[in-house]
Amino acid sequence: MLNVPSQSFPAPSSQQRVGSGGRSKVPLKQGRSLMDWIRLTKSGKDLTGLKGRLIEVTEEELKKHNKKDDCWICIRGFVYNVSPYMEYHPGGEDELMRAAGSDGTDLFDQVHRWVNYESMLKECLVGRMAVKPTVSKGLLPKGPVTEIVAKEGPSSPSYDWFQTDSLVTIVIYTKQKDITLDSVIIDHQDDCFRAEIIIEDYSYLMHLRLSHKTEEDSSVRVVENVGKIEIVLEKKENTSWKFLGHPLENHNSFTPKKDAGMYYRKCQLISKEDVTHNTKLFCLKLPPGSHLHIPIGQHVYFQQTIGGTEVVKPYTPMSNSLLSDFKEPTLHSNKFLFFLIKIYPSGLFTPELDHLEIGDSVSVSSPKGNFKVSQLQGLEDLFLLAAGTGFTPMVRILIYTLTSIPSLRKAKLMFFSKTENDIIWRSQLEELSYKDKRFEVEFVLSAPTSEWNGKQGYISPALLSEFLKRTLDKSKVLICICGPTPFTEQGIRMLHHLNFSKDEIHSFTG
Ligand code: FAD
Ligand code: NAD
Repeated sequence: MLNVPSQSFPAPSSQQRVGSGGRSKVPLKQGRSLMDWIRLTKSGKDLTGLKGRLIEVTEEELKKHNKKDDCWICIRGFVYNVSPYMEYHPGGEDELMRAAGSDGTDLFDQVHRWVNYESMLKECLVGRMAVKPTVSKGLLPKGPVTEIVAKEGPSSPSYDWFQTDSLVTIVIYTKQKDITLDSVIIDHQDDCFRAEIIIEDYSYLMHLRLSHKTEEDSSVRVVENVGKIEIVLEKKENTSWKFLGHPLENHNSFTPKKDAGMYYRKCQLISKEDVTHNTKLFCLKLPPGSHLHIPIGQHVYFQQTIGGTEVVKPYTPMSNSLLSDFKEPTLHSNKFLFFLIKIYPSGLFTPELDHLEIGDSVSVSSPKGNFKVSQLQGLEDLFLLAAGTGFTPMVRILIYTLTSIPSLRKAKLMFFSKTENDIIWRSQLEELSYKDKRFEVEFVLSAPTSEWNGKQGYISPALLSEFLKRTLDKSKVLICICGPTPFTEQGIRMLHHLNFSKDEIHSFTG
């Protein structure tokens, strides 16, 4: 039985509803799902009205196409006829019309930058802008490097390199004191070397075709307080290099993080284990040349080609267990990623994930998200409100807080599930609360059987006011909330009514 009210389409948990920034979604007509759109794009129908021709579009021409049945939008220098897509747009026609006949890049980026519009709208492509539009943010998709230098904010890093007979060391000077290994993302395959350094809300990229062959695995060291990053590569031959490599796209660029492209690396499926009747724990292994730490509270995007279209969906890395002395696996810990994923039998993406065999690969993006571990510093009371798979971001937050925040007095989880069979990691949670007296868990079921003696119902002010008791009058509190969109939205409203401030609440959304 699906948890989908017939009048509510798409389902509350569908990607078609989950928008970043909590924007409300409109109900779409029957037959207007993402899968229906993919089918239409494959039907061979002329969706641009240009019979397969691509044209150069002037600004004057673009402005003329500003009606629902004739609507062109420019995104990053490419113009799309989005009229056929109107009824399929999860945010509704009016939202799309806000960019009609104009450059919608900024609007698109604000709402759902991670959606792969190039693939989704490829049959709607009219052509390129003839004249570069005035907005400067990354509008030219190819060609000369678009380097957007930060006017305010951190200054751009620089790099240098040196060599011995067997090693090449690349040194990146970030000029930032608080750089950690979490800030360094390396992808090195064949002779293509990519290092992205995250500095506050900016991204610095080194992207080179190395002049000689090296082993793919590299070692990375961060000299904290100086902001120096050293990446050591092992030469395959003991020859002296005259230069480091040829620059590739966006090499040596420093751009706002939101403008940096999404990079995917192929990870191998190592194991897939049942957790409940419809959730599984997936273990993925990073390729040998990748160095990627996902900061606590952040998520990644998986990319799969479904029906010939690249589809992306967000997933939140977890630990493989809550116990094992609260430690993440030590052996090659930075090479494995664990995800707990609910399989929706009539969903678009998860059945494909479920069909993956051990050894198959999945494309995984670099981390995204706005949770900062500094929100946990000095914390005394941690309250976690999780519903269904909304439990996933809570796992690493809980482990980190219990192990690394000495000021912590209490960590409490209120976990909302439909039935007892749907509770994720129930016995581990109970065991953790037994082992660590600072931790308490309460299960609330929305569709319990008559044998259930515990709490029941949806999230409510009564449940919250009883649960959210500070250990001290003015203790430092953080409340994290995550689950289906209506759960999160209602929860936030209730928390405000209970006088918790914005800084005391972190909600996880797209
Ligand atoms: P969808 O196609 O989106 O469908 C979901 C439900 O809607 C199904 O029940 C399906 O039957 C129903 N539905 C779809 N289309 C129709 C239709 N036309 N008519 C009626 N019903 C329909 N999920 C996890 O499991 N683990 C995580 O760690 C995780 N992390 C996330 C992190 C973030 C930041 C966000 C925003 C979401 C996260 N999610 C996570 C949710 C995940 O991204 C997907 O939304 C989820 O896996 C469902 O994908 P799907 O394509 O299989 O299902
Ligand atoms: P589910 O359908 O099994 O429901 C779990 C519980 O959520 C229910 O028992 C109920 O208490 C509550 N709930 C459901 N619908 C509600 C409603 N309309 N109003 C109030 N409460 C409601 O949940 P699921 O299928 O596991 O879905 C989990 C959701 O969490 C998905 O939408 C997923 O996208 C989201 N999620 C988000 C993130 C993130 O943003 N970082 C991470 C993981 C999961």
